[in-house]
Amino acid sequence: MRSDNRKGVMVVLSGPSGCGKDTVLNRLLEMNARICSSVSATTRAPRPGETDGVHYYFISKDDFEQRIENGDFIEYVQYNNHYYGTLKSEIDTAVAAGKIIVLVIEVKGAANIISKYPDAVSVFLMPPSVQILEERLRNRGTDSEENIKKRLSIAVDEMEKSRIYKHVVINDDIDTAVQTIYDIVTMYTE
Ligand code: 5GP
Repeated sequence: MRSDNRKGVMVVLSGPSGCGKDTVLNRLLEMNARICSSVSATTRAPRPGETDGVHYYFISKDDFEQRIENGDFIEYVQYNNHYYGTLKSEIDTAVAAGKIIVLVIEVKGAANIISKYPDAVSVFLMPPSVQILEERLRNRGTDSEENIKKRLSIAVDEMEKSRIYKHVVINDDIDTAVQTIYDIVTMYTE
């Protein structure tokens, strides 16, 4: 049930792997109880510290393809040899409850959402430079060298597509980036 008469809002947040999207999301969640996150389904394996149902729904390829057939996704993509998708059920429940639901997704999926839902708020989090992004990916220590190379080439591609987003925020200082994005997402809901 909706607790007040404010509209629910869907926020698409993208940015290259390692640019700080997860940090931004976690900080936004702490700032306002109306903000929640959409848990995507994926066929990739969990990284250390990731929990099923919290970071992703980790499902098999067969299960994912069955859900595509069922029409369970509002968008899905194949990225880095795995499926990732946003579940309709996650969005419908949150929007009906007047929440600000944040989808942290890559650019192809974001482009689908932006064209299907013109009211969606879209934000691209831009790293200050490709060199800094590379350093951050290495320091994270969760990806193999081959994976880092792949992610960097995808990142350059993604940065070129940032123009489709309503807002582009440069992450050279995480506190400033978080506050800027918070101001953007809450501006649409007053
Ligand atoms: P990672 O493997 O690093 O968790 O995610 C890889 C990329 O997939 C990231 O850019 C992430 O934002 C994106 N992603 C996560 N869930 C979804 C989703 O449901 N749909 C789309 N299109 N991209 C997603």
